[in-house]
Amino acid sequence: MILIVDDQIENIYSLEKLLKSKGFEVDSALSGEEALKKVLKNDYALVILDVQMPGIDGFEVAETLSGYSKTKEVPIIFLSAVNTDKKFIAKGYASGGIDYITKPVDPDILMLKVKTFYRLYEQTLALNETQKILESEIETRKKAQQELKDKVEHLHTTLESLPQIAFTADGRGRITFVNKRWYKYSRCPETFPEVHPDDTCIKKVWQHCVEHSQPLALEVRIKELKSGHFCFHLLRIIPVKDKIGIRSWVGTFTDIHDQKEEERKKDEFLSIASHELKTPLTSIKAYIQLLERMPDVQKESKFATYINRAQNQVNKLDSLIADLLDISKIENGKLKVNKKRFDMEKLIESAMETIYYTHSHVQFKIERKGETITQEVNGDAFRIEQVLINFLTNAIKYSPDSDKIVIHTTTDRDQLYIAVQDFGIGIPEHKKNNIFTKFYRVEESSVKFQGLGIGLYICAEIIKQHDGTYGIESSSDQGTTFYFTIPFN
Ligand code: ADP
Repeated sequence: MILIVDDQIENIYSLEKLLKSKGFEVDSALSGEEALKKVLKNDYALVILDVQMPGIDGFEVAETLSGYSKTKEVPIIFLSAVNTDKKFIAKGYASGGIDYITKPVDPDILMLKVKTFYRLYEQTLALNETQKILESEIETRKKAQQELKDKVEHLHTTLESLPQIAFTADGRGRITFVNKRWYKYSRCPETFPEVHPDDTCIKKVWQHCVEHSQPLALEVRIKELKSGHFCFHLLRIIPVKDKIGIRSWVGTFTDIHDQKEEERKKDEFLSIASHELKTPLTSIKAYIQLLERMPDVQKESKFATYINRAQNQVNKLDSLIADLLDISKIENGKLKVNKKRFDMEKLIESAMETIYYTHSHVQFKIERKGETITQEVNGDAFRIEQVLINFLTNAIKYSPDSDKIVIHTTTDRDQLYIAVQDFGIGIPEHKKNNIFTKFYRVEESSVKFQGLGIGLYICAEIIKQHDGTYGIESSSDQGTTFYFTIPFN
């Protein structure tokens, strides 16, 4: 909008008509005082100001306008009646633009000047707007940067307070921060601590993890600088992701040396104890067999029953010790399988016979369903039979109210599948994932049924050694189905 200030109403009228005819919005004031009031209230793109007015004249108005921050940029065109005004105009004001036009007004020249000033005003407005946006953008960025800095500082303080060695790395895996504990194991913040020569090289696995965007969990022995001792640590490095991807990584080394030492002692004890128990047990077994074969032992006599019971208990003890020995072998990486070609059908029959023999006091029947396995399998027959016997023993043990067990077999080109189905107490859905874990027993049934929770763990290790798979079939029926698959070759 353009403001025309003139004490002559007819001048205002003619200028208004001219400007409106060219599409401009126009406002007017009949005195300097009125003009000043209006400019403070409204926004004007241009003021056309008569120099000679009673009261506050045009120059005074212009000077006042240049003093207000709101109006100091508003361009002014003076209307001067006499030539002498020009020298006053030339003294200049601090306003955005000053020009003059002499009376009588030449409409063409006035329009030319109005248009120029109007365009100038619009550009100034646009520039101001852009500047505002830029300023707010800078402000936002500054704020974001500060927030990021605060977060990083917070993270570093947290990492510093941890009882572990802690560090961060950038998206490409370069270490960016280490806490004080780091320096107990490494002199340089960019280099991982020295690893025991027999353990995995951290740098190599770490590079692999960064390339494949995978978290890292690794047990390694790292060297403490002061003592020169290698101590077991659990190294974990996890990615910090945002919308774009992995921006950084956070890592910790947790000291697990004491825990490892305890585990080693426990395994050593298990190994020694089971070996020591094995020798007298073998003698007891032999003496029981001798007793059984004595000619004056009558078959149906009480004496024969007691010998039989003693034999059953000794067998249980024997398999328990065998399991404990297996556990210590697994821990030491010594559970080896001797692979040879064998007939799986014969193995299934032998396992069933063993089960009928060892569970002669229980009423049950094992059914066979599925294909007969004609192709020979390359594996450790003794160990595979151990798995099958374990599944069958559990099937009987955990089915006190059922007398039916089914062995399912199927094959495809490369592998065979064997499953043992029972109709017993079943396993709660949320416990199924842990069932093959060492010493795990389902709480609900652990009091009623005795056991150590190591049988399935050993089975899993044996199947792993054969590159096979194992698990529990999900079924909504009552009971459980354990299965394993192994490749023929
Ligand atoms: P154990 O039988 O000596 O406890 P296992 O490793 O053989 O050890 O089995 C682990 C746990 O899995 C058992 O304690 C039991 O809770 C559960 N389990 C195993 N087999 C069955 C089954 N057939 N039915 C129900 N629960 C089972």
